[in-house]
Amino acid sequence: MLAFLPAISLAAYWGGGEVLLVFCALLTPLVYALTGGFGQMSDGGRTDLEDTASVEEVAEDFLAMALHNGQTTACLQLRISGLDAISDAFGPTRADEARDVIETRLTSALRQSDHVFRSGDCQFTLLIAPGFRLKLDSLLDLAKRLRLAAEEPISINGVSQYVTVNIGIASSLNFGRNVTADIWLDSAIQALTDAVESGTPTTRVWSDKLSRRHKARRDLQDDIAGALDAGQIQAFFQPQVSVRTGDVTGMEALARWDHPTRGILPAAAFLPAAMETGQMVRLGQSVVIRALNALQTWDGAGLSVPTISVNLSEAELLDPDLPDHIAVALDRSGVLAHRLVLEISETVLRGSNDDISQRNLIALSEIGCAIDLDNFGTGTCGVSQLQSVPFQRLKIDRQLVMGSDLSEDRQRILSAIIGLADRLEMQTVGCGVETLGEHGVLRDLGCGHAQGFLFAEPGSAGDIGAWLAERQGREEPANGVRLRRVK
Ligand code: C2E
Ligand code: CA
Repeated sequence: MLAFLPAISLAAYWGGGEVLLVFCALLTPLVYALTGGFGQMSDGGRTDLEDTASVEEVAEDFLAMALHNGQTTACLQLRISGLDAISDAFGPTRADEARDVIETRLTSALRQSDHVFRSGDCQFTLLIAPGFRLKLDSLLDLAKRLRLAAEEPISINGVSQYVTVNIGIASSLNFGRNVTADIWLDSAIQALTDAVESGTPTTRVWSDKLSRRHKARRDLQDDIAGALDAGQIQAFFQPQVSVRTGDVTGMEALARWDHPTRGILPAAAFLPAAMETGQMVRLGQSVVIRALNALQTWDGAGLSVPTISVNLSEAELLDPDLPDHIAVALDRSGVLAHRLVLEISETVLRGSNDDISQRNLIALSEIGCAIDLDNFGTGTCGVSQLQSVPFQRLKIDRQLVMGSDLSEDRQRILSAIIGLADRLEMQTVGCGVETLGEHGVLRDLGCGHAQGFLFAEPGSAGDIGAWLAERQGREEPANGVRLRRVK
């Protein structure tokens, strides 16, 4: 219509003079507006969707419009963190009001033709109307604007409350013509999941690579229960040694997946999938049984391993049956309770401030098990929390030990932690020791135990048995494999 406008005007002038020219100039835009031409052309112009349309209906409509006009549309999924804390501190009504405030702010940061939906207690789905200028840069700018709007402090009872926002974006540009609304919305959720898992409030944009990562994780999630049934989840072991004498003082059990096609997978590759599918309690039970069996085997071979440590997940700590399971496993193995050490990481301790985990920890120490605080020094564990549980040892995180021989700052921190532990009558384990220099620092500062690749990398019960035999002057088992040892 626009292309023909000059020709139409000229013809009108030739045929009917100025009157027809004026008439034509007024009528052409009118016809254009009535046929919906302006709505389709402008970036983010109004659409004729009802306010009551569902997220799927709007998504389908926007996608169809974008494909038809060669435009781009985008879905943004926003997750708000901090509303739970508001609910805890001021009650659910105030948290609802905060949610309303955020929704209003998001709506005002967008155009009228865009849509904002609540898709959960702390999640919003935003659909951006098709436009010609919605390239990646403008989407990232938009995400920044939305974050600033949502993260503005909210005043509740005169006190400023803060929330943070994670954002996942899926642009229709990244999909072919056959994309459906479901796939598009789901892709923005994948991007949001990626943002949330990064650990800091951030924005992620969906891409093929991100999607492949998610597929690999879903495959792992599907397989992990079967792997536990088939006995493919095994325990590897890493020795802990006395810093002063080099004698073995304990052994830590670490989960490994003996995958039929991918080989031995480290804990980090499958623990998230086990957590997401609720398999951590089963996994923990299987590792405890394997750890106690290995200890018995080493005892039988005359190898000295005073204690065996296992890691406890948050799910296990919140399981009311945990002390019973541990007591039964100890009973069946015949291993004395004081030889089993349970490691709780600082982050798990922080999230477990409730009755069941406290009750479990007290019950476990009454059975006679020792409890170590893992990954100490990098989290936010308060000094008072150190006394809430009868910890036997503080395991100083690898981050603090790494390069400590080259950094006076780290040495000062290590010295302060070891001094604190001394005062609280706890022992210390320096973790992730890789060099003789780091070992020397721990020795000079009076750290009791050390664990790390300098002594041995985690190995199977058989391999570690061979390492022990060689170190302790016993006969080496037939399948022995040499591991690294202290020079
Ligand atoms: P963690 O408890 O801090 O375990 C120590 C991790 O550091 C192990 O990784 C170990 O292989 C690694 N490591 C030890 N020495 C060194 C070193 O000198 N240098 C370096 N770079 N790394 C070293 P892994 O086995 O991959 O385990 C990672 C984490 O997964 C563990 O961290 C623990 O939090 C968790 N995990 C492992 N097994 C289990 C399990 O059976 N149950 C639970 N709940 N968590 C487990
Ligand atoms: Ca550990």
